[in-house]
Amino acid sequence: MKCDVLTLFPDILTACLNESILKRAREKNLLDVKLINIRDFASGPHRQVDDAPYGGGAGMVFKPEPLFRAMDSLKEDSEPRKVILLSPQGSPFNQSMAEAYAKEGRRFVFICGRYEGIDERVRTMIDEEVSIGDYVITGGELAALVIIDAVTRLVPGALGDEKSIEDESFSWGLLDYPHYTRPREFREMEVPQVLLSGDHKAIWRWRRKEALKRTIQKRPDLIGKVALSDLDKKLISEIKEEA
Ligand code: SAM
Repeated sequence: MKCDVLTLFPDILTACLNESILKRAREKNLLDVKLINIRDFASGPHRQVDDAPYGGGAGMVFKPEPLFRAMDSLKEDSEPRKVILLSPQGSPFNQSMAEAYAKEGRRFVFICGRYEGIDERVRTMIDEEVSIGDYVITGGELAALVIIDAVTRLVPGALGDEKSIEDESFSWGLLDYPHYTRPREFREMEVPQVLLSGDHKAIWRWRRKEALKRTIQKRPDLIGKVALSDLDKKLISEIKEEA
């Protein structure tokens, strides 16, 4: 994944980009993030980036000039870019979008908003407006990080074990099954017997059933969107009988 992040607070991103999987992905050139401080493109002695809203009202508005100038600076190279505005009003980000972004050939530009909002004219520069959920956070930096993290782990080579992506929550439209590791018994809680059996078919069936059960219990909205196999339907009947 390649991206430019336009932000007033690059240090917020630096902290996460220098840890764990994102750090390793950068070292392996699987993730290329350029942090662009929007304040560098502000003018005047105070490099002001916000101003009072026309029409009055609470809060300040992100001025358009520094954002346009920062975007213009990216045109110095001719790399094609997909421009994303982080905004609670955008399309809700999900795993399908992360998968599509991981395959995107263009470099991304993430515009991190701040204040009460950005000047509406900035929207003329964007390709997509994306939200990380139906709540409002202080700025777009954490939203950009959520997207960069979710996409990077789908880039081949970014994770230690590629197979871990295949079984994850949402990858099959279902939530993930339960996981256990040593010790076999902990505070009188035992690992399910089937996982110790060495019977791979039985283990696969148990995991599939648990994934279906969890999804029915925690996210029933997802079940209607999954293409259920005959075995899935049988497992769901068993789950209902057992309940
Ligand atoms: N007044 C704006 C509104 O209600 O749409 C919210 C402004 S918010 C305090 C400041 C910035 O945080 C936004 O411009 C956006 O970049 C970012 N932001 C806030 N919530 C977000 C979300 N759910 N998803 C993505 N970005 C978000």
